[in-house]
Amino acid sequence: MSTEQLGIAATSAVTIRSMLAEAERSLHAAGIEQPALEAAWLLEHVLHLSPLMQRVKAERPVPALDYARVLALVARRANREPLQYLLGTQEFCGREFRVTSAVLIPRPESVLLVREAIRRCGQNPAAIVVDVGTGSGCLAVSVASALPDARVLAIDASADALAVAQANMEQHGLDARIECMQGDLLAPLAECGFVSQIDVIVSNPPYIPDLDLVTLQPEVRCFEPHLALAGGPDGMDVHRRLLQQAPVYLKSDGVLLLEVGLGQAAAVCREAEESGWFRTYDVLRDEGGIDRVVCFEKKEEGRNPQSGQPSIQTATSRPSS
Ligand code: GLN
Repeated sequence: MSTEQLGIAATSAVTIRSMLAEAERSLHAAGIEQPALEAAWLLEHVLHLSPLMQRVKAERPVPALDYARVLALVARRANREPLQYLLGTQEFCGREFRVTSAVLIPRPESVLLVREAIRRCGQNPAAIVVDVGTGSGCLAVSVASALPDARVLAIDASADALAVAQANMEQHGLDARIECMQGDLLAPLAECGFVSQIDVIVSNPPYIPDLDLVTLQPEVRCFEPHLALAGGPDGMDVHRRLLQQAPVYLKSDGVLLLEVGLGQAAAVCREAEESGWFRTYDVLRDEGGIDRVVCFEKKEEGRNPQSGQPSIQTATSRPSS
């Protein structure tokens, strides 16, 4: 948006104090929960002044262009665009990750996946770890940085998401250690000879049931990528497909760690056990007391007689949803 479009004179003599107050008022009017805090963060983003320095320099005039930029950001936030997309960053596991609307914003509960992957590789530092649906790359980067000898593969169906993941890997100096692959779930592994080679598969797949999508807060529903949220009629479509595909690529005691949505853990565990390929060895609870990560180990003896062959899909197979 240009300054003319916003009707602002180039010589705007708005002070930091009045700019802050205006931003806070607009955010409050739009129902944003912490308007003062968010106003300060948006100003910090544009002016490169910490909230403390904004107070110290409260009477300083804001250049007209910066004023326009803050107003534009405030308007987007008032429209419920997530703050993280406006600032372009989110912290996860002690690191800052670049985020755009091509990727899900990292959530604190996904740390459970990272911790368990690292714990499982304790005895096996040169493990091969796969992050399926890597998005921002936050899981792959966090695992790779904690396990300097591990080989980490990051897969995503979206080229735009992989570009963000790649940028994060570069920013954290891990791009040489993580291989990015584009494709549907584990399909890219088929072409690279990873059958029975993988130690750990981690994934935060889409798990919102279709009918629940409309009940999500607008920040999530209107702005985060549908592909990373929508999990089919009961939210577990992708978990099922991963349960089918993972036995092909996991070593016999390899593990599959899946994040699940509210109330899904028991059903995903049941399906994993019924497939005959997996033993549930743990279910990890998040800080809200929700069973959030299911942990499966591939059984030595493999499947039971009723179950079918695990499926190998190639990168060209059409995703089912
Ligand atoms: N945790 C996200 C939410 O509830 C959903 C993430 C996902 O579907 N994997 O908003």
